[in-house]
Amino acid sequence: MIETTTTDLIINFSYVLAAALFIFGLKLLGHPSSARKGNFLSAVAMLIAIVVTMFDNNIVSFQIIAIAMLAGSILGVFAARMVAMTAMPEMVSLLNGIGGLASLFVAWATVAGTSDYGVFTMVVTFLALLIGGVTFSGSLIAWAKLSERITGRSVTFSGQVVFNSVLVLVIIFAAYLFVAQPAMVAGINIDFNVVLYTAMALALLFGIMLVLPIGGADMPVVISLLNSYSGLAACAAGFALHNNILIVAGSLVGASGIILTNIMCKAMNRSLSNVLFSGFMPATKTDMVIEGEVKPLSADDAYYVLEAAQSVVVIPGYGMAVAQAQHAMKELQQLLEENGAEVAYAIHPVAGRMPGHMNVLLAEADVSYEQLFEMDEINKRIQNFDVAMVIGANDVVNPAAREMKGSPIYGMPVINADLAKNVFVLKRGMASGFAGIDNPLFFKPNCRMIFGDAKETLGSMIRQFSD
Ligand code: NDP
Repeated sequence: MIETTTTDLIINFSYVLAAALFIFGLKLLGHPSSARKGNFLSAVAMLIAIVVTMFDNNIVSFQIIAIAMLAGSILGVFAARMVAMTAMPEMVSLLNGIGGLASLFVAWATVAGTSDYGVFTMVVTFLALLIGGVTFSGSLIAWAKLSERITGRSVTFSGQVVFNSVLVLVIIFAAYLFVAQPAMVAGINIDFNVVLYTAMALALLFGIMLVLPIGGADMPVVISLLNSYSGLAACAAGFALHNNILIVAGSLVGASGIILTNIMCKAMNRSLSNVLFSGFMPATKTDMVIEGEVKPLSADDAYYVLEAAQSVVVIPGYGMAVAQAQHAMKELQQLLEENGAEVAYAIHPVAGRMPGHMNVLLAEADVSYEQLFEMDEINKRIQNFDVAMVIGANDVVNPAAREMKGSPIYGMPVINADLAKNVFVLKRGMASGFAGIDNPLFFKPNCRMIFGDAKETLGSMIRQFSD
């Protein structure tokens, strides 16, 4: 009979408490008004989980844990203070990758001394190693794409399908050797460590090969999928370590990541397999050409239209984050409202560079949640708005998604800004968005381009209203 000590009881009770707090925290994260509280509860749950785990058996010395916690806290505070708001998406993707790396290390540590375990432990350890490695290297590629250190477009090369297929086969063989152990596989005389390090290298290579061909508008799906992978890797590591809270926390991250991936796929009208294998399929050519001319307008002239407008819909995008124009937009919103206009904000699920990016920025500027509308809601009545103000958005308002068969974003739901009575696009030049495709909106007869940094342009409009 297994004896249960008081310590075991305390540990397991605390784990249940931490798990409940995680779930409650996740629930509160579901709405912007309760998100801070949710974040706090989840952080408390994590602290309980860490502290209690210290009292569990098989733990390294308290000094090492204290040093690790101190180093982690210093790094966390430093990163939170130093990383610019605009670099947040890259930061999130790096943190995701580090989660994967931690699981890979756990798997490594589990079998480093001895690999004399049962089949179940060896299988979950291999899964932690594989998914953790894929998450780490995949997130590094996502980070490089988001920070434009490498091209954001799909990267493919001839022979890629064959290469990837061979890679998958080799990984399956490595998994077999890892679990069955080379010593027991007849005729194969390899040291277990060779299998271990080869498996690690293969996992890292697989992560790179998985994310490289995905690019452009499909990146949000990859980011949320990698998020889910980091949870699944942690869950597998939890099984390898027989640690219940790691299993629970990992499953929560894995499941919420899958839900987010599903939301992103729906937002883009794509299936997951379509996104994952898009880089492997030949691109369809579009024969449509963009016609019309670009009509620039000064911020001062735009003021006269805004002054007469009864309703304005603001469509923010990544450029608003770059310009940090959310506070100026809030100021202009108040002036427009004092002038009698209705102001609504239309939020596309993939606007910006991370899920919820626009919501975070607008919450920072104290824009009321009641004024934020989802794409579907606003599209139903967008033709009634006197002015659609596009603040640094591009791909999410691209009508090519509706009109140009063969366009890489054809079929993706977008905010139909071009259907409003007047459209003002605030951006610096004619550069394309993340997906790297031209935007016919800029050439439509009802569209005026207000060139310049979005914050400065909004500042000029505010000055006109105040004069
Ligand atoms: P886009 O990336 O399509 O366009 C942003 C635009 O902002 C650019 O065309 C740029 O034009 C303009 N801009 C940049 N700096 C400024 C500035 N200082 N002032 C004014 N304008 C500026 O953004 P969207 O939000 O429309 O679309 C998001 C894209 O990112 C989608 O393709 C999405 O798939 C992808 N993505 C989204 C993720 C997510 O989770 N949300 C994650 C990864 C990718 P110019 O240089 O001419 O000023």
